[in-house]
Amino acid sequence: MKVAKFGEFGLIERIRGAVSAEPALRLGIGDDCAAVEIPPGELLLTTTDLLIEDVHFRRQWTDWRRLGRKSASVNISDIAAMGGIPRFLYLGLALPAESELADFDAFIAGFLQAAGEYGAVLAGGDTCRSPGPLLISVTAQGSVPADEVVTRGGARPGDLIFVSGTLGDSALALRRLQAGETPHPYLAGRHHDPTARVGLGRALAAACLPSAMIDLSDGLLADLGHLLTASGFGAEVWERALPLSAPFQAIMQNEPDVATLALGGGEDYELLFTAPASKAAEVARVAEGAGVAVTGVGRIGTEPGLIVIDRHGRVQRPQRAGFDHFAD
Ligand SMILES: [Mg+2]
Repeated sequence: MKVAKFGEFGLIERIRGAVSAEPALRLGIGDDCAAVEIPPGELLLTTTDLLIEDVHFRRQWTDWRRLGRKSASVNISDIAAMGGIPRFLYLGLALPAESELADFDAFIAGFLQAAGEYGAVLAGGDTCRSPGPLLISVTAQGSVPADEVVTRGGARPGDLIFVSGTLGDSALALRRLQAGETPHPYLAGRHHDPTARVGLGRALAAACLPSAMIDLSDGLLADLGHLLTASGFGAEVWERALPLSAPFQAIMQNEPDVATLALGGGEDYELLFTAPASKAAEVARVAEGAGVAVTGVGRIGTEPGLIVIDRHGRVQRPQRAGFDHFAD
């Protein structure tokens, strides 16, 4: 059965039936607005992402359930990057008329499953027919105690630069897909179904450890560049210190050029943050408590700009790194 036969209000009812209750959601799907509560003394965080077919994803490379999961996770990653607790999601879907109802159901099931894993609830949205590609717009809201919010703007000279997890896995999977090949299953999972580092971001913020934080969507160098711009300082990155997964390292043995993906490849959805060097042991302890590996990969300096100390100890000055939708 096609979604077009089911109609907009039928689809909305279908979503509403799948959403579980949440006390902080005073009014959810079905009224003109959602009405939500956040705890007293906390700031409301709001972030929006667009996912457009053939720009951000290809339907033939993934499946609707994982697409639903990723749509939720990548937005929630932005809440994690502020040290926040994910709470409410709003989903806009423009569906090609020929979409199958079973695919729509799989998307919603994946979206709600991932949202639930992070403690977030779907609070509203909109659906319509798309004359072209599948278009997904997700808004995520979270909250954070007002004195614990972490921005991109607080890094100071001498701070160490940390990343969670491993880098480049998603970009390596994407490179394989673009070449018409099948990626290693671990790398494919990192690309199609990334994990937002909510527990880690919250734990770090609650311990007041990060001086600045951002999530890695555009690539280490690009996102570090955003953080440096906001903070007003420069940095050096130690390429040899970059954390790489075992499958990534195995492939790098035969294809040394994939190393650049750890610096420039996007969609890792790991956290990049800075903290005073004196707090490195505490960072390690909090990360261990959150069950996520964290690695020191560089240092903030007073010199403007971004340099990379490469694997051979040479100083590199990367020109343009990471992904920019409006670049040629
Ligand atoms: Mg972000």
